[in-house]
Amino acid sequence: MAEASAWLLTGGRVIDPASGRDEVTDVLLVEGKIKTVGRDAASHAPQGVERLDVKGLVACPGLIDLHVHLREPGQSVKETIATGTAAAARGGFASIVCMPNTSPAIDSPSTVAFIRERAERDGVVNVFVTGAITKEIAGEELAPIGSLKQAGVVAITDDGHCVQNNDLMRRALEYARMFELPVMDHCQDYSMVTDGVMHEGYWSTVLGLRGWPAAGEEIIVARNILLAELTGTHVHCQHLSSAGSVALLRDAKKRGVPISGEACPHHFVLTDATIAGSEKFWAEDGKALFGHDVMDRPTWPNYDTNFKMNPPLRSAKDREAVLEGLVDGTLEILASDHAPHCDYEKEVEFDYAPFGITGLETELALSLMQLYHSKRMGLADLIRKFTVAPAKLLKLNKGTLAPGADADVTVFDPGREWVFDRDDSASKSGNSPFYGWPLKGRALMTIVGGRMAWNERTAAPVVKGERITCNLSGKAS
Ligand SMILES: [Zn+2]
Repeated sequence: MAEASAWLLTGGRVIDPASGRDEVTDVLLVEGKIKTVGRDAASHAPQGVERLDVKGLVACPGLIDLHVHLREPGQSVKETIATGTAAAARGGFASIVCMPNTSPAIDSPSTVAFIRERAERDGVVNVFVTGAITKEIAGEELAPIGSLKQAGVVAITDDGHCVQNNDLMRRALEYARMFELPVMDHCQDYSMVTDGVMHEGYWSTVLGLRGWPAAGEEIIVARNILLAELTGTHVHCQHLSSAGSVALLRDAKKRGVPISGEACPHHFVLTDATIAGSEKFWAEDGKALFGHDVMDRPTWPNYDTNFKMNPPLRSAKDREAVLEGLVDGTLEILASDHAPHCDYEKEVEFDYAPFGITGLETELALSLMQLYHSKRMGLADLIRKFTVAPAKLLKLNKGTLAPGADADVTVFDPGREWVFDRDDSASKSGNSPFYGWPLKGRALMTIVGGRMAWNERTAAPVVKGERITCNLSGKAS
């Protein structure tokens, strides 16, 4: 694609929560940086500037997703840095943060270096790397946190796993504080969850599936609050799914504990009733989804493994609590937990399927539908959870349209209606529960460092590699 060195975005609704700006105006990008925002932007434009009419659309800082599994190295049959970042760009994300549960795990400077080089070569969006808390994410011995920081990680987490030993977690927090690294945690108590595969409640009983109780998450959230208080290190709780977790966090934040949390669209759109099949879901929990009766309801069978994730989809009450947590600011960050898996892995009995779904290409639409179109929050508040909030947590020099900042810009149409089609996805994997769903809101352009990483108007159709029916055994998460 021909690349202009300067872009002038004209007539869009420019929303930049970092500066409080929300107005119809122009944005000028020159040589990879934000040059100026305002009505006089055109007068600063150099010769040969490429004009993009974005009237009727929203232009905001390039969105950030701080919870993505890119699967490279080791599981590139599921996703690669090339395909994962392409999916991110299509979803409107200019920056993503990848999780360390690759193979090998990101627990050494050499693996960090490998991913950063590969991202430089193959990535179409910015890739920030997290390091493991413990060696091989085994929860037994601390990873070399100082060298990981030196190698460029932006946080540490054992995501996919959870450090069970509370003293080890305390030491990790103390080290992280020395190196000024944020700590993120996948909250799961193994002794309570054991081999649970779905939320423990009415539907797990009806369906005869082993339960993953909400308390199995809440106990670790409570542990993290206590350790954050003890060590003074900030802990960020990943993909919170239960009402109890939100209540614990809300209370701790009131007391000034350095703690935060994120929510994923599947947890605030779907419930455990989906696993009983579409009919059961639409009859009750799905009835007033998005604040109205959903038209053209998609269908799926019971025990559909694309509704299996970790933590699991919970009750309607939990879903409501997560929404309330987002609205009142208890949960400051939105993320996908994009977790690609091969078809052959998901096409097995519910008990044996890996946890996780893809999410990069649907999270903006689902968030807009459930938070903005349903009138729970305004656009600026929603954009904040995808921009300044994650940038602040991870101290990324991103998430703003301030002059001099990197020219990362997302242009989206909040009202665009579309249907998510498996053949029109850039991800290498097809494990989304949202194929065939009528969605509202879509990214039309993703500009990364002044380069057009995705432009719906000019993009060629997705060229798929063969669908993955490999025989590589992959660990789940
Ligand atoms: Zn996780």
